[in-house]
Amino acid sequence: MTPVAAPETQPPRAEVKAAVELYLALHRAPELSGAEHATAALLADRLTALGLTVHRGLAGTPSFLAELRNGPGPTVLIRTELDALPVTEATGLPYASTVPGAMHACGHDLHAAAALGAAARLAATRAGWRGRLLVLGQSAEETLTGARALADDGLYDRFGRPDAVLAQHAAPLPAGTVAHATGGPLMAGSRTLDAVLHGRGGHAATPHLAADPLLMAASAVLRLHTLTARESAPAEGAVLTVGTLHAGTRANVIPDRATLSLGLRAFTEPALDRLHEAVRRVLDAESQAAAAPRPPELTLTARSPVLTPDPALTAALRTVHAGHLGAGRVLAAAPSPATEDLTHLTALPDGTHVPLAYWMLGTTPAATWRAAATEGRTVPANHAPDFAPDLRQALPTGITALTAAARHLLAAGPPTVGAVPPHPEAAP
Ligand SMILES: [Zn+2]
Ligand SMILES: [Zn+2]
Repeated sequence: MTPVAAPETQPPRAEVKAAVELYLALHRAPELSGAEHATAALLADRLTALGLTVHRGLAGTPSFLAELRNGPGPTVLIRTELDALPVTEATGLPYASTVPGAMHACGHDLHAAAALGAAARLAATRAGWRGRLLVLGQSAEETLTGARALADDGLYDRFGRPDAVLAQHAAPLPAGTVAHATGGPLMAGSRTLDAVLHGRGGHAATPHLAADPLLMAASAVLRLHTLTARESAPAEGAVLTVGTLHAGTRANVIPDRATLSLGLRAFTEPALDRLHEAVRRVLDAESQAAAAPRPPELTLTARSPVLTPDPALTAALRTVHAGHLGAGRVLAAAPSPATEDLTHLTALPDGTHVPLAYWMLGTTPAATWRAAATEGRTVPANHAPDFAPDLRQALPTGITALTAAARHLLAAGPPTVGAVPPHPEAAP
């Protein structure tokens, strides 16, 4: 499939080089959720150099919003996350993380470099469009807290509500491709819960005098996993994972409490509500069964709404991307139980929606993809220590996908003598 030439949206060599260097710098120096100070400063400085006005430190976090006012027209917001994960990198790459125990294992460095690349492209071609470009660098996505903090802090009250929000996410699909939702949800909604099971501590030699919270927790973990298997319809796509379990300090001491944290995911809010209540019921029942001295505590620590891209916008951008990348590089994305907190800025509390376009960005090198398919293996995916995006393919694709999407939404600029004619997609 021959891509349609689109000089306004395809980054020239010098811009790709700058984006690659930015990616390498971000990848070498990952910062964990809420502590992305150097990452935010680096990106904000680059955006300032491109001529954008940057509002830093939003909601008392490293999040920033960069703004390029370019005459009357729509407001388009491009969002990138900033945070890395507490994962020890095992890619063996020459530009691997230099920070022990931290890695850009979700590809947020790729998103940031692509967003900056798109901002550079749009700034360089500003004669060809009108409107307002916003680039949001969002802190703390992995903890599902950063977007909520911005929403609670009144981001749109302060800077206006955008006409569309654009975002993409690295995914284990062939590098050089993008994949759009085919209607309906693209990512699950989620709840993160912390639980404390109370027991009565004592000597290991006299368990009959104690109420063992460790046994309660062990039993609860097994029982909790039956909720998705036996209390949720398969079509709800529910997933439950107990991610932490802590109890006790010595082999000869029965502890007085056990703590666990778990995540719930599903594709409808009612399914999440029901599972949340079922978790409470199981923990209460296990405590009662063990004659616990007091009931357990269950706390909701984070949540994210179901991510459903705007159907009309998605259909339009699928066509735009096919025009700029070639139809063979635009795939259909299956719904994923992954979650995304950007929905706090698009599915608003008053029940209205800011149109969201969200697509997956393929990162797997072609050779890896072929070998895995031949041998029936899976390819390294996000959050894995060996997740290694194919930079040379994925980054230019990500820049073009964002730029073309923004240009489709922004108004066409006035024709000027000798200028490249406005792209046909650029009309509002
Ligand atoms: Zn992630
Ligand atoms: Zn992510």
